[in-house]
Amino acid sequence: MNVEKNIPLESIALPTPPVIGVKILEAVKSENQSSEGLARIISSDPALTVKILQVANSSFYALPTKVDSIPKAITVLGTNTLKNIALSFVIAKEFNGDDDDGFKFNFFWRRSITAAAGAECLASMLDLNIEDLFAAALLQDIGIVIMYLLDKGKWVGALEDKKKDRIPSCEAEQRHFGFDHQQLGAQTLEAWGLSENIHLPIRYHHCVDDPPATHGTQAHLLMLSDMISSVYHGSHSEEKIEEIKKHLATSHGIDPMQVVEMVDTVAAKSIEIMSLFDIPEKDMKPFSQILQEANAELGRLNMSYEQLLKEYRQAKEKAERLAADLQKANDKLQDLAYKDGLTGLNNHRQFQELMDKELSRSIRYKRPFSLILFDLDHFKKINDTYGHPAGDFVLKKVSRVLGEAIRASDTASRYGGEEFAMILPETDLKGAAILCERVRKSIADQKMTTGDVDIRVTVSCGFTSYNTDFPKTTKAELIAAADKALYNSKRSGRNRIGFIRTPE
Ligand code: GH3
Ligand code: MG
Ligand code: MG
Repeated sequence: MNVEKNIPLESIALPTPPVIGVKILEAVKSENQSSEGLARIISSDPALTVKILQVANSSFYALPTKVDSIPKAITVLGTNTLKNIALSFVIAKEFNGDDDDGFKFNFFWRRSITAAAGAECLASMLDLNIEDLFAAALLQDIGIVIMYLLDKGKWVGALEDKKKDRIPSCEAEQRHFGFDHQQLGAQTLEAWGLSENIHLPIRYHHCVDDPPATHGTQAHLLMLSDMISSVYHGSHSEEKIEEIKKHLATSHGIDPMQVVEMVDTVAAKSIEIMSLFDIPEKDMKPFSQILQEANAELGRLNMSYEQLLKEYRQAKEKAERLAADLQKANDKLQDLAYKDGLTGLNNHRQFQELMDKELSRSIRYKRPFSLILFDLDHFKKINDTYGHPAGDFVLKKVSRVLGEAIRASDTASRYGGEEFAMILPETDLKGAAILCERVRKSIADQKMTTGDVDIRVTVSCGFTSYNTDFPKTTKAELIAAADKALYNSKRSGRNRIGFIRTPE
C-alpha cells in the first residue's frame, strides 16, 4: 500500500475546519502575539474555556496549583499543548452527530479517547515525552468519520467488505474510495494547518514499518494505543493484550506484568476524559478486573468463558443504549424547560440546578462562590401606575442590566416574579459586594423609557458566600442567608445591599 501518494484533495469536498479552530490555528501562527491571541480566542468561548480549565486541573497534568484562567493555563502548559487541547475539543465537537444516523459517533469517540489515554499511559510507562502525542492518538482515525461524511454508501460498502472478506480496514477503504483513512485524515489535518507531529504519525499508524525516521516512534505508539483501545471496545480482548505484550517486550524489553498494569490504568483515565468531552460515560473497569469478574462468574455458572463475556458485553451495550436514549430525552426536555420566557434568563428550576452544581464544584475544589438575590422595590406600584406591560418592560430592562454586569462564568436567573439571582463562581463576599453595588447603582441611575413615560426603579439586594471552611454548608442555608440579607435591606430602607455570612 502506498501511503506516500497524496490524494488529490481538490477533487474531494473536504469538510472545512470549525471556525473557532481556524482562529486558534491562525493565532498560534502569528508568532509575536500567539499566546495573547490564543487566550483571547479561547476565552471568547465560555464552554471551551471551562473545559480547558477542567483538563488543566485534571489528574492528567497533576499540577501543584489550581489553574483558574486561560493565560495561566498557557503559562503552565505552554501554547502548543493548550492549542492541541483546544483543537481536540473543537474537532471532537464538530465531528459528533446522531448515532442513529448509521455512524456510531459516541462509540467512535469513546474508542478515540481510550486510544489517546492509552498513548499517554504508554508514553509514561516508556518514559517518553512526545509532543502532541495525545492529539495525534485522539485524531488518528478522524479520516474514518470524514469518509463517512463524504460518501455514506461507499463507507458502508467498505465496512461490509471488511467483515465479509476479513480484510484490514485500510484495504477495504482503498477498494471503495481509492485511499484510506490514514491518508485522508492526515492530509485533512495537514491542510487545516495542524503540525507534523500530528499528521505524520496518523498517516502511518497502520503501516508502522514505513514512516519517516523522525516519526517512527509516534506511529508505533499510535498503533499500540489503537490496540489498547480494542482491548476495551472490541472483541478478542485477551488476544489483543497478548499482542501488546509481545510488541512491548520485543521493542522495549517491557515485562508483561507491567503491560497489564499500564492497560488497567487506561480505564480510569478514559472515563475522566470522556466526561470532559461530553461523551456519555461507559462503565469502564480495569481490564484485569473485568477478567477476574468474568472468571468468578464462569466458575459459578459453569458457562463457557466466551459465552459469559459475550453476555456481559451485550448487557452492557443494552444499558448503554438505554442510557443514551434517556440522555437524549433529557436534553430535549432541558432545552424546553430551562429559560424564562419573558426575560430570557435562566428560570427558577435552572437556578436550582446551577446552585447544586456550583456548590458541589466549590466543595470539591475548595473554592468560594457567592449568591446574590435582588428584589425590585415597590414593583407593585409600577404595575399599578403604568400597567402590567410597562412592568414587563422594566423586568426585561433590569434583566439586561444583570446579564451585562456579569462575567462569562457567572449566571443570572429569574428567581421569581420580580426577584432575580446571580451565582458568582470563584467570588468571595468582597467580590460579590462590588458587583452587587455596581448593579444596584446602575439600575437606580437608569431612566427606563417606554412610550411617553420615564420609569425609575430601584433594587434591594442580599448576598452571601460559600465559605471553604464550612464544607457541610447546604444550598438551602445559602439561599436562606441571602434571602434574610435581602429582607434586611428592604427593612432598612430599600435601594441598598447587605450580606449575611453562611453559616451565621
Ligand atoms: P417590595 O419593595 O417590598 O418588594 O414591594 P413590591 O411591590 O415589589 O413587592 P410585592 O411582592 O408586594 O409585589 C410584587 C409585584 O410584582 C406584584 C406582582 O404583580 C408583580 N409581578 C410579578 N411577576 C410579574 C411579571 O411577570 N410582570 C409584571 N408586570 N409584574 C409582575
Ligand atoms: Mg419587590
Ligand atoms: Mg417580591
